[in-house]
Amino acid sequence: MLGDTVMDVLARRARMRGIPTVWVPGLDAAGLATQVEVRRRLSKQGVVFDELPREEALLEIEKWKEEHEARIREQTRAGGFSVDWGRFRYTMDPGSVRATREVFVTLYRQGLIYRGERMVNWDPKLRTAISDLEVVYAEEESTLLYLTYRWADGSPGGLEVATVRPETIFGDVAVAVHPDDARYRAHLGREVVVPLSGRHVKVIADPAVDPEFGAGALKVTPRHDLVDHEIGERHPELPQPPDILDDRGRLTSSWVPPEYVGLDREAARSRVTEDLERAGLVVRRVPFRHSVGRSERSEVPIEPRLSTQWFVRMAPLAAPVIDAVRRGEIRLNPARWELTFFRWMEGIQDWCISRQVLWGHAIPVHRCRACGRDTVEVDPPVACAHCGSRELVADPDVLDAWFSSWLWPFVALGWPEPTADLAHYYPTSVLVTGRDIMFFWVARMMMAGYQFRGVRPFSDVYFTGMLRDESGHRLSKHLGNSPDPLDVIRERGADALRFALVFPNPADEDGPFGPGPLDGARNFLTKLWNVVRFSLPFLPPGTPPPRGPPSLAPTAALEDRWLLSRYRRTAEEVDAAIAAFEPTRAATALYGFVWHDLADRYVEIAKESLLGHRGEAALRDARATLLYVLDRTLRLLHPFVPHVTEELWHALPHSGELLALAAWPRPDECPADPLAEVEMEPLLDSVRWLRNLRAEERVEPGATVRAWIRPSGPEVARVLASERRTIERLAKVAPLEFLAPDAPAPPGSGTRVASLGECFLERPAATAATLGALERERAKLEEILRRSRARLADPGFRARAPAEVVRESEEKVRELEDRVRRIDEHLKAGASSGAPA
Ligand SMILES: [Zn+2]
Repeated sequence: MLGDTVMDVLARRARMRGIPTVWVPGLDAAGLATQVEVRRRLSKQGVVFDELPREEALLEIEKWKEEHEARIREQTRAGGFSVDWGRFRYTMDPGSVRATREVFVTLYRQGLIYRGERMVNWDPKLRTAISDLEVVYAEEESTLLYLTYRWADGSPGGLEVATVRPETIFGDVAVAVHPDDARYRAHLGREVVVPLSGRHVKVIADPAVDPEFGAGALKVTPRHDLVDHEIGERHPELPQPPDILDDRGRLTSSWVPPEYVGLDREAARSRVTEDLERAGLVVRRVPFRHSVGRSERSEVPIEPRLSTQWFVRMAPLAAPVIDAVRRGEIRLNPARWELTFFRWMEGIQDWCISRQVLWGHAIPVHRCRACGRDTVEVDPPVACAHCGSRELVADPDVLDAWFSSWLWPFVALGWPEPTADLAHYYPTSVLVTGRDIMFFWVARMMMAGYQFRGVRPFSDVYFTGMLRDESGHRLSKHLGNSPDPLDVIRERGADALRFALVFPNPADEDGPFGPGPLDGARNFLTKLWNVVRFSLPFLPPGTPPPRGPPSLAPTAALEDRWLLSRYRRTAEEVDAAIAAFEPTRAATALYGFVWHDLADRYVEIAKESLLGHRGEAALRDARATLLYVLDRTLRLLHPFVPHVTEELWHALPHSGELLALAAWPRPDECPADPLAEVEMEPLLDSVRWLRNLRAEERVEPGATVRAWIRPSGPEVARVLASERRTIERLAKVAPLEFLAPDAPAPPGSGTRVASLGECFLERPAATAATLGALERERAKLEEILRRSRARLADPGFRARAPAEVVRESEEKVRELEDRVRRIDEHLKAGASSGAPA
């Protein structure tokens, strides 16, 4: 919803600007993720996914996909996202299948895809290889066991070897020490006994061993650890071990004593540990904290496993992308993500693209039974390309789901067919997505773009933040703390949801989302609704729609000139913010303009003109200004909140069929008027200060009292004099008089100094009620004051509390004393004015 809102803001604005805009909606098969969800659902019904016949399993997945596609379409519609449904694509539709096969075959022929036996991240629960990016590392507690490997020649003692995975000892082919480690130099070449299995292995030297870890001797299990595998490759004289763990993580093979075969790795660890203890081979156990990788999908620990898989050579694909981003040909927004991006791209590893799951694109490889070679073709072959045999076996694996989605920018436009869309819309302009898939998707799309189209797939990437709930947890379907967007839309409306996603929390940072922002957004939309409703009676039927900014009379009211200038500034800010990919800055500018300038200030000030109390010319100016600004503001707001703006626009005099198709306003069509903005300040300030004084003096809301202002200078004096009526009306003061610089202060008045000068207000006659209220407030303040003073007098507090806290407390005491003093003045004045007590 967050990503779609940002995309819709960009798409709607581009459309209104007359730029050919296409937003292709699509659905990803999400292979492994989908299969995991289906497996979870079936297991709740007591069905084991892995035991289903292939066809039935695929049917279950298809059912899941249909349900979710319907829900995603419904959510996209309910959110009001202006996608082009006629161009809907799916990563498993025939066009995508064709494109994915073409890409595989092309890369294979270019030598950029290869099959190899490599150490992969194996998920023993889902029984598939997964990519490095799908492994989540975290520190976990475990136990480091120090074991004795006895000398094979029967001499006393042995080597001390530390391990957290005693169940893997059955796969040992050697014990390695560092070549410079003097402790072991004499033992190199000797043999030790692998505990519990009786096999003899050699003590070898290898520079990969860390002499500081454990006792400095490392058991070498090449098929189950990456470092060990590399050591094994450097020592071809060592035996070639079998896999001692099967694809479910259970002990297996002839190297494992029969009593352990079939044990799951967890059970095997406890059992082996117990047996080692019983055999007296455990020297000591030490609690040990280390980083454990778990599968993002199944959450079980990853098993490093030597396995034959398909890989993409990434370094050659990454090189042009690194250059492009460095040159600014593709921009990352916000730019702070570049560092993370380059770090990954420059150390990029080959991409393991084969998955041992059911759901996904078939790998377009057939192996020949006769000659053993591979035939790699886009169209499934009928005969071996090498020997002509018809005995072909399809590769049983499927492709990683990202292997089809990395092609999206051109496949969604019709590639490999030379479609009109592809010619017209590729390269695209913007990609909006979450930064959590920066490497899964964004970087790979860039690589595919340069490799297969020779140009960038998009010019800008915008990364949204991650939403959190109000207690700070990341919103996730998995945690169940993410509300269903359809529920939120039913309760609050799509526009409130959309606005709350970009304001007030910056859309590109991780911010809380919940009732608070939603309430704020709804209140804003109500304010907008009300200002239009207020305006309607002043825009009678037959009022022509605004063509451009009103040409005001030379004597036009200050508020009209001021509003137009404020509008112009807002429009500029919105344009600049969206161009800089700062949707929140644009929303903030619009919020402030509508709420404060238009609804709170302008409408209040211009009411007299709109009611016709200031003559025909003022009425005409105010109407034209109001209508123009409303029309243009609705256009600027439309990409954010399309429903309410469309509705309101139709209620106003307008030309055109839909606001969505109306032209985006050019800020410069409306002249800026800096003088009007400067002149408006004293007017707004004087009203604010006089209202503050009224509140402090407890003037009855309906009462009109006398007021005086001593302006700070001749310019301010001139503006205030010309706006006297407005100030009197808005601050409910009369008469308002202006004092000369040397005139004495009016007696008995509250005073405040503001940037505009000094304001004075006639002190109202005190009544018994107000005096009573003042007495009560004074007592309350005295009590707080007493406690604050006591705290400050406590030397312990002064010693312990940070200097800032002490300063704040002192500040507060001064403020309280001041308030008590003012109340005392009131009470004295009240008593002398003879109010009945
Ligand atoms: Zn063959």
